[in-house]
Amino acid sequence: MINRVEHQRDLKPRRLVGDTAYGTAALLGWMVEEKQIEPHVSVWDKTTRKDNTFSRSEFIWNEQANEYRCPAGNALRSDWRSFGNPRTHVTKADTIVYRASQMDCDGCSMKDRCCPNTQFRKVVRSIHEAARDEARRIAATPEYKQSRRQRKKVEMLFAHLKRILKLDRLRLRGPNGAHDEFLMAATAQNLRRMAKWLMPEGKQTNQAAT
Ligand code: SF4
Repeated sequence: MINRVEHQRDLKPRRLVGDTAYGTAALLGWMVEEKQIEPHVSVWDKTTRKDNTFSRSEFIWNEQANEYRCPAGNALRSDWRSFGNPRTHVTKADTIVYRASQMDCDGCSMKDRCCPNTQFRKVVRSIHEAARDEARRIAATPEYKQSRRQRKKVEMLFAHLKRILKLDRLRLRGPNGAHDEFLMAATAQNLRRMAKWLMPEGKQTNQAAT
């Protein structure tokens, strides 16, 4: 939809507000890197470990050196030796795996809290991690809180359409049918809201009694 509106009307939003379903690495990469749209979206993040071992957030990223530093201060790299033909190391899942040196891990006092079941620790980084970091940065701002409040207002209207006006599925077929049905439901919803707004509940009761 954003591409279509941009193409047809030369309009593009400055920010995009959505729930975690929009917070995947690929979507955030598209918003930030390709469209330069501010992502007011929670990041889809499954890297927090629940078994009391170090999560990825405990490893410090160094952009210039292209490496992580583990809690013991040792490096995790995507390549430990140079190749004649430089490799990108990007996996099919659009990630790069950073590995600790087995020598470092063998003698490490924190191994039980880091990688108790493997010989050395690996950390997976998305190729869109910079976009994910941008979304994390925005999530800590007052503007994000404001976006979240605005999103709730819009989502409540959709929830109302589904539950009260029974628009949980479309009955008319094709794009025109969907357009007409949605327009009718939105009109009915607006009329209801207008009636409530023009005649608050107390006033309705008083008038019914007279
Ligand atoms: S086990 Fe390896 S990666 Fe983990 S803290 Fe120790 S040296 Fe670092």
